[in-house]
Amino acid sequence: MKNRAHWDAVAAGLKPDGRAVINGKRVDTANYSDDFSPVTGTSLAQVSECGVAEVDAAVASSRAAFNNSWGRMSHGARKTAMTNLSNLILQNADELAALDVLDMGKPISDATTIDVPGSAAILNFYAEAIDKVAGEIPTTDPGNVALVRRVPLGVVGAVVPWNYPLEMAIWKLGPALAAGNTVVLKPAEQSPLSALRLAELALEAGMPEGVLNVVTGQGEVTGAALGRHNDVDVLTFTGSTQVGKFFLEYSGQSNMKQVWLECGGKSPNLIFADVDNIHEAAEFAARAIFFNQGEVCSANSRLLVERSILDEFTALVKAQADKIVLGNPLDENTTMGPLVDRTQAGRVAEFIASGNTSSRLVRGGNRLTIDGSDCYIEPTIFADVAPNHEIAREEIFGPVLSVIPFDTEDEAIAIANDSIYGLAASVWTGNLKRAHRVSDALHAGTVSVNTVDALGLNIPFGGFKQSGFGRDLSLHALEKFTGLKTTWIRYE
Ligand code: NAD
Repeated sequence: MKNRAHWDAVAAGLKPDGRAVINGKRVDTANYSDDFSPVTGTSLAQVSECGVAEVDAAVASSRAAFNNSWGRMSHGARKTAMTNLSNLILQNADELAALDVLDMGKPISDATTIDVPGSAAILNFYAEAIDKVAGEIPTTDPGNVALVRRVPLGVVGAVVPWNYPLEMAIWKLGPALAAGNTVVLKPAEQSPLSALRLAELALEAGMPEGVLNVVTGQGEVTGAALGRHNDVDVLTFTGSTQVGKFFLEYSGQSNMKQVWLECGGKSPNLIFADVDNIHEAAEFAARAIFFNQGEVCSANSRLLVERSILDEFTALVKAQADKIVLGNPLDENTTMGPLVDRTQAGRVAEFIASGNTSSRLVRGGNRLTIDGSDCYIEPTIFADVAPNHEIAREEIFGPVLSVIPFDTEDEAIAIANDSIYGLAASVWTGNLKRAHRVSDALHAGTVSVNTVDALGLNIPFGGFKQSGFGRDLSLHALEKFTGLKTTWIRYE
């Protein structure tokens, strides 16, 4: 494993260019803002504040690329360009990993083993899928034939969050580009640098100018301009439920573009006393909330434990949390870095203060300053949390776990489902019938049994209720970026 000295040298060598990439070129904009790092506390780059004019230019460029190049290219040529981009991501792995770490604080060991190779693999998956999807020929009366094909929709607007800057962008780009669309990508203002670099790599990979435009800026300006644009055909969004609802409004206010939403979560993890391996369940329970600083949409932030094992299980999860190495994320031994910025750290600290008034603090609870940054929050566990308390209901998006006791299976299911969210859930039991019964009853897009947060690039990911709709990953994601088109020929 590369060590801290290596990553410090990589970080010192970075000279990120924060200008937007439109029509194959870096563009100068009227306004810029600082992109502060939660690791160093300093500005990494001056980043373009794109307004309506830049978004218009980006959409026009993507429209031209759809009409004249990408949308008309052979499948083979598109596949080659996407495969090239996947390879370039791996060739530039150190740089991309360091950019995401500096921008949002995730441990370098995760960025190098999950985010970067995962992004490359997803692009490959969709590159390979291009010529493996087929249309339909339904039954028609004699003398007729109906050809039903999935066709690209045109220009896709993609608005993504900061918790997996590179990977969330790729979740959208992979299927959108494979289906033959072009994309205007709007990264989060906290973490724009890997997306901007990706746009350069896309050109190097042989994607014509305009296939991937990247516009940076504030959500309510740049993101809203994309959401309201009359020449964007599909808007795909990952982020908070609150902002997801804005995109539904933007669509209605403009051209009724299709909107696909991957939003928040407050996922429950149900531990039954008949669990096969209580130690393994505790290890996974800790990982399910503390991984990526708890900044994961599907984080298992509600731990529902059967009362007969409550004290033992809580102690085991605490022991796992005690092993977490909180520190500078460029250190190869760090397993938890800072939160994305001071705003988020302050927000999480407020939730902890609220938990302190009503629940029992088992560990953590402090905001720390490390290497000059005060964005660090200790892995925090609250016990005796009432299911209706705000720390058990609201998406904290930080390393805060609420332990909630239950006495019966029905009670556990009722507490688990009593949420506006329905993204993910986990169940631990050694009883096969119970595993089926409880997973059937849980209203969540993915229910993991005897594991947590199960995820695979060929498996659909997304939620029910206010966690959104539409699915990322898998071949199903292609459906979001294509429309069914029928050509009906009467030949007699
Ligand atoms: P956010 O909703 O604040 O921002 C997401 C994106 O929307 C950013 O690019 C932002 O600039 C843009 N945006 C913000 N306000 C906007 C507005 N008024 N109009 C248009 N665009 C706007 O979310 P975040 O804080 O970046 O990320 C955290 C959230 O993302 C959490 O709620 C988390 O659950 C969610 N998330 C969901 C998934 C999933 O797949 N379900 C994955 C990762 C993160």
